[in-house]
Amino acid sequence: TAKADKSGVTRFFEPAMDTRFRKRHVLQQELRLAIARNEFVLHYQPIAKIDGSIVGFEALVRWHHPERGIVQPSEFIPLAEETGLVAPIGEWVLREACREAASWDKPLQIAVNASAVQLKHGNFAALVESVVQRSGLSARRLEIEITEGVLLTDSAVALRNLHQLKEIGVNIAMDDFGTGYSSLSYLQSFPFDKIKIDRSFVANLPGNAQSAAIVRAVIGLGHGLNLPIIAEGVETHKQLAFLAREGCDEIQGYLIGRPEAIESYRMLTGKSQKRKSKAKRNSTQAA
Ligand code: C2E
Ligand code: MG
Ligand code: MG
Ligand code: MG
Repeated sequence: TAKADKSGVTRFFEPAMDTRFRKRHVLQQELRLAIARNEFVLHYQPIAKIDGSIVGFEALVRWHHPERGIVQPSEFIPLAEETGLVAPIGEWVLREACREAASWDKPLQIAVNASAVQLKHGNFAALVESVVQRSGLSARRLEIEITEGVLLTDSAVALRNLHQLKEIGVNIAMDDFGTGYSSLSYLQSFPFDKIKIDRSFVANLPGNAQSAAIVRAVIGLGHGLNLPIIAEGVETHKQLAFLAREGCDEIQGYLIGRPEAIESYRMLTGKSQKRKSKAKRNSTQAA
């Protein structure tokens, strides 16, 4: 039964109900407010060629919760996907990442995660196009990483969005390959430009024979399809050496750099004076 308390907030749960559900409900309401309150921030993790040279960054969202501190995406993206909030959150992430990357001196890649839920919205590609245009970023510098929250197969809308994105020059990467729903049939149905091997396969390299065989096979598969392969979660020199030997194209992981506020990577991105003052104006407006 729903009850409105004195503050006017409707409470759907009686005290006796499962606290897990109550927590979830609170989190959902707070998540709804988080966008308006400007509580999200982006961290950026470098992406490197196999020789270690930096080719771009992946934007990863964090939630600066007023009481809980930093909340990681694994704790709120699944809920955001279920409630539809992933669309407005994702739109903010896209705007912020494109604005940031457009301000760099170096024309590095910027990778932005998009949930399969977003991809099922009819206007997703149009949104990306308008955000890219407004930011002044060249569409070629943007890469959308599709993460698997829901099954994409048989979604004509998702397919149309992906083709539209490719038409405007945006790259599409398949994230977390080998886990969840992300499957071989996707590679056949969707126009991906890159495959990211999930870090669960990289973690046990090179010692674990199963992981080694899987990673080797995925690299072979990618190259057979003419798709570059990027390995996530590279933490050790031994992992890197294995990946280099097997012909992996790019790497990402703590060995190269952790996700950090972009200020930590200014030496790599550069930032021109002119852009800096523009970015300052924007952040003043937002505040
Ligand atoms: P992902 O896109 O596969 O991102 C890689 C995750 O692995 C990140 O976790 C990153 O911090 C972590 N990672 C990178 N290198 C290493 C390493 O060497 N070792 C270990 N142990 N971990 C490493 P994070 O930032 O917690 O993000 C988790 C997931 O949340 C992301 O996985 C992505 O699926 C999702 N996510 C993050 N930001 C967004 C977003 O803006 N929108 C959507 N839809 N999803 C997002
Ligand atoms: Mg990703
Ligand atoms: Mg991934
Ligand atoms: Mg992942």
